[in-house]
Amino acid sequence: MLQVYMPEAYKLEYRDVPKPAVEPGKVLVKIERLGICGSDIQVYHGKHKYMKFPVVQGHEAAGIVSEVGAGVEGIKVGDAVTFQPQVFCGECAPCKAGHINVCRNLKVYGVHTDGMAQEFFLVPSDKVIPLGKGTSLEDGALIEPIAVGVGAMRRCGDVNGKNVVVIGAGPIGNFAAQVAQARGAKVLVTDINPKKLALAKAVGIYATVDSTGKVLKDIIAEVFGAQGADIIVDCAGVPASLTSAIQAARPASTIAIVANFKVPVEIEIPLIQRQQIDVLGVMMYLKEDFHTASKFLAEGKVKTTGIVNKHFDIKQFKEAYEYIDANAMDVMKVMMTFSK
Ligand SMILES: [Zn+2]
Ligand SMILES: [Zn+2]
Repeated sequence: MLQVYMPEAYKLEYRDVPKPAVEPGKVLVKIERLGICGSDIQVYHGKHKYMKFPVVQGHEAAGIVSEVGAGVEGIKVGDAVTFQPQVFCGECAPCKAGHINVCRNLKVYGVHTDGMAQEFFLVPSDKVIPLGKGTSLEDGALIEPIAVGVGAMRRCGDVNGKNVVVIGAGPIGNFAAQVAQARGAKVLVTDINPKKLALAKAVGIYATVDSTGKVLKDIIAEVFGAQGADIIVDCAGVPASLTSAIQAARPASTIAIVANFKVPVEIEIPLIQRQQIDVLGVMMYLKEDFHTASKFLAEGKVKTTGIVNKHFDIKQFKEAYEYIDANAMDVMKVMMTFSK
């Protein structure tokens, strides 16, 4: 079977490797769709601080179960599935407290251990999430990034009736904003890219504002008035987004950091302290977030309209990254397909 192997940054090898044999407790899945995410791009560029080459990438995928190992229940051949790509120990203090997303020994498929950029993927059955009825494989591969949005909003507590600002209208910002609205929040999305803002508007976000040349604090005042923002979610991940969030935060409010920051940021600590702002680090998701993501998708509460910009065949992985690099500003999501 075909496997896309990354020995080092910017290098991709298409290898022919044996198809794995199914094992007890595991399922073999024929991969059909694979999304490329911001963290994959960081890995490709050699900028991901917390991984080591070589790696087979891929953590947001959907496929069809092709073989089921002994002892696996509730999953059968032919089922359409996606994956919870976290391998955790279950033994460390965070795991025991239910925070498996920050397991001390966490491995993410496609980052710290081999992922789904291959024709078949052998995986423990408890990492498999069946797709809802009527959910396409394409949407199935988007459940992982939707789950990031679900995890982010779960971390923010009860958002019902709250004013939520999402900075950044890329896929994660778009999904986090939709999830917040599905949970009853009034949501403002800002970005400097009109195309991404148009997509947020198209899926029904309450307010979308181009922040080019504007101050976030003023935008929030315009949209939410005196109440301000109860929660600001940073899905942009650049120094300016976080510093503007801290400047704009109302006393007794929350800032959630969802984006992957590539560089350290200098921030004004007294503003956080004197206004008693809760700054939340947000890391991925729990299994329950996948079920919620899948449900919101099936119910139409989260839409995937316009999220996927372009498709490439798995044999064109290199071309996909070249496309992403050439269109860095406008790319939402590139999706890999698997021809026969
Ligand atoms: Zn991802
Ligand atoms: Zn652990």
